[in-house]
Amino acid sequence: MPVADFEPVIGLEVHAQLLTRSKIFCGCSTSFGAPPNTQVCPVCLGLPGALPSLNRAAVEMAIKAGKAFGCRIAERSIWARKNYFYPDLPKGYQISQYELPICSGGAVPVPGLGTIGLTRIHLEEDAGKNIHAESGSQVDLNRSGVPLIEIVGEPQLRSAEEASEYLKALRLSLIYLGINDGNLEEGSFRCDANVSVRPRGTQKLGTRVELKNINSFRFVRQAIEYEIERQVKEIESGGKVLQQTRLFDNEKGVTRSMRSKEEANDYRYFPEPDLPPLLVSPEWAAKVQVPKLPHEVLDELTRSGVAQADARTIVADPRLVEVHRRVGGDPRRAALFVVGELARAVNEKEADLAALKFEPAQVAEVWKLQDAGTLSSTAAKEVLAELIRSGKPPARIVQEKGLAQVSDAGALEAVVDAVLARSVSEAEKYKAGKKNLLGFFVGQAMKELKGKGNPGALNELFKRKLGD
Ligand SMILES: [Zn+2]
Repeated sequence: MPVADFEPVIGLEVHAQLLTRSKIFCGCSTSFGAPPNTQVCPVCLGLPGALPSLNRAAVEMAIKAGKAFGCRIAERSIWARKNYFYPDLPKGYQISQYELPICSGGAVPVPGLGTIGLTRIHLEEDAGKNIHAESGSQVDLNRSGVPLIEIVGEPQLRSAEEASEYLKALRLSLIYLGINDGNLEEGSFRCDANVSVRPRGTQKLGTRVELKNINSFRFVRQAIEYEIERQVKEIESGGKVLQQTRLFDNEKGVTRSMRSKEEANDYRYFPEPDLPPLLVSPEWAAKVQVPKLPHEVLDELTRSGVAQADARTIVADPRLVEVHRRVGGDPRRAALFVVGELARAVNEKEADLAALKFEPAQVAEVWKLQDAGTLSSTAAKEVLAELIRSGKPPARIVQEKGLAQVSDAGALEAVVDAVLARSVSEAEKYKAGKKNLLGFFVGQAMKELKGKGNPGALNELFKRKLGD
């Protein structure tokens, strides 16, 4: 049977670091990039006798995710020890949730796919990080104890493409909720994929393989596609898919066996004796505010008259939503500015919008300068391009590049008078009815003003002086 006769069954498990300032069971900082082992204490180092105490903000972020995706929020959930031995886990177990997670059920809205069901969302602590260098391996425990939610999706995805769409939608939703920064490269948003195949038309699930180490959307697609093909080949050649954990090698584009997949009972889960059950009263859950999700913002934009394609571009980056909001006024006109000008400036840089550093407030400022007549539309484009490149404040760019448009009535009038004084015959023809000469006058004045005259103001001035 060819690959097309098999149906892939894919479920994703996402680990998302929560954007709390301190760790989940101690007061250590969670900021990324500090020198190794400088953000640690007896609790997150796992020293004997140290006792964990729960970070309320982490629980509220989990509740926020649960409410946003329509999960049931458990009034009582419990902490469990997940035991395993690894160099980046000095205490020999991870505090997680097992039998009673804080959230269960619910679904993630995915554009084009409807919704993808969730099994559960639970809270847990992150482990440290092994750093392998040529001189040897080292362990950095700054990450140990950073709060995570693990979002376990139902195996409803049927292709690598669908998996990637789901992941993008989930990532963007968490960013909108303000609980995760969506950074795959730094590992604050990580994905494992469970992949199996079965002959089309059958219901029984095939043996599943867990894929780890996938840190970009492209790799998600590559890893899953490779794995689907590998499993089909295995079955076709009379072999059997083994239940195992495989690592994706992003340089070679292949997956390789890491270990046979452990079963839950290998971890010897048992209730964490140092933490009481987590109690979330309905009153507490009700108080947690949930911001709008991307699909809701999309609906709002299109209802206000913004074209569907423009709305999708804006929604894909929360900063653009912010620029659009700050520009204000007519939503459709504001959208044209955001999508047209900003997207153009981005394209000219051949850069990925997401990688660009800009403050929404600064972009909105460029719009205001243009709207007020201080900048011509050409100059506004130039300021925007420079802003994206350098991050300098717009007013400074305008000053440095001498881009301010001349709207000062006195200055413009002097130029208009000079132009008329040397164009006597044209002025007579205009007065005799040749009205299209207006463009000639304005052009002359613009030349003198080095293109920085306000065209609207010049038009008016010439008309007035010529008796219109
Ligand atoms: Zn600590």
